[in-house]
Amino acid sequence: MKFRRPKGTKDVLPKDIAKWHYVERIIRETTELFGFAEIRTPTFENTELFKRGVGTDTDIVGKEMYTFEDKGGDSLTLRPEGTAPVMRAYVENGMQSESPIHKLYYLTSMFRHEKPQAGRYREHTQFGAEIVGSDHYYCDVELILLAKEVYNRCGIQDFRLKLNSIGKAEERRNYVEILKSYLNSNIEHLSEESKRRLETNTLRVLDSKDMNDRKVTDLAPKILDHLGSESRTRFDNVVNELSRLGVKHEVDFRIVRGLDYYTDTTFEFLSDDLGSQDALGGGGRYDGLIEQLGGKPTPGVGFGSGVERLIIVAEKNGFAFGEQKAPLVYFIALSDEARKICYGIMRDLRKLDVSCETDLLGRSFKAQMREANKLNCRYVYIIGDDELQKKKGQLKSMATGDQVETEFGKIKENIE
Ligand code: AMP
Repeated sequence: MKFRRPKGTKDVLPKDIAKWHYVERIIRETTELFGFAEIRTPTFENTELFKRGVGTDTDIVGKEMYTFEDKGGDSLTLRPEGTAPVMRAYVENGMQSESPIHKLYYLTSMFRHEKPQAGRYREHTQFGAEIVGSDHYYCDVELILLAKEVYNRCGIQDFRLKLNSIGKAEERRNYVEILKSYLNSNIEHLSEESKRRLETNTLRVLDSKDMNDRKVTDLAPKILDHLGSESRTRFDNVVNELSRLGVKHEVDFRIVRGLDYYTDTTFEFLSDDLGSQDALGGGGRYDGLIEQLGGKPTPGVGFGSGVERLIIVAEKNGFAFGEQKAPLVYFIALSDEARKICYGIMRDLRKLDVSCETDLLGRSFKAQMREANKLNCRYVYIIGDDELQKKKGQLKSMATGDQVETEFGKIKENIE
């Protein structure tokens, strides 16, 4: 029987891994440049964490979680998003008492049972960053600058940044009532999905892609007109500071994010190179989340960004990812005795960081030369019977074809 990978998952093959390593390195280096430290949390959490943190009326908790009962009867869920687990770890490990502010990042798999399509997987990789402990609007700005810098360093310049504010919890509650009553008076024009969301997650009606829904919501009351002065000033500060720092953006009342924990600023990065799944990344502020998870009231803001989508867009923009380094020296042993000597030399060279490769298939001399060529090795080192006697092999440069007799222990000195 042949096995296939589960629907919506992917294999990253060695021929593509250099791209992943390169992008992962850019993500880590850039994020650390901004002063963030990595945090790693378990792949699965207690299901209740997501119900409580993300909200039962959201798409994630409502229909996308990989939830299972383990042998001890506990309900566990594969991590569908990064913020709730990071905040759980923050509270559980008493991080607040270590420092009043934490800048944290993650780069890891997320699991969501969604309908697979281009750019949408059931296991995808996200990098995300969170600033916990401060409600200063510069935190929001800093995170947006970080995401932008990562995209830029991956060769992506022309994404769109959309911003909105969904206010404090109470402002949002009041606004949702106003929105509900407007939508109810136009209910006959709404899609079935939006009719359902109207009751369960009203704000999400605003980000429906259905054209008729959009006609209705174009004319809906806007949340920015219903914010208190503190929230409004906060939002204006974020917007003005981004303008001052030269970050292009647009304000869009449809950016509401799906999850319950958001407050004030919400944002999304979109790319036209992604087709219908056009979100590169998104995030926002979540000032009530930590308290909801049993911690002291603590403000926070963060974003998550899909790495598969980042790679898709970088590729479309012709980004040079760099290639896996070729082995420097390919060893060709012409007898069993010579192979033993080769392995001794390779052991010593590898300790000195010289990458070495050799044949493990018993191929002919000609086939081994072809392999060294295919692998792009800069040198081959050949040991036959004569060379064994002299304790000197033939060091051949693949670029020039020059061949120099070189002592077994003197290879490093003779390669560039
Ligand atoms: P979200 O929390 O849903 O906004 O996700 C944050 C980012 O993760 C999105 O902007 C996407 O780039 C990426 N993402 C979310 N879900 C998926 C998925 N099913 N497949 C691939 N990438 C995803």
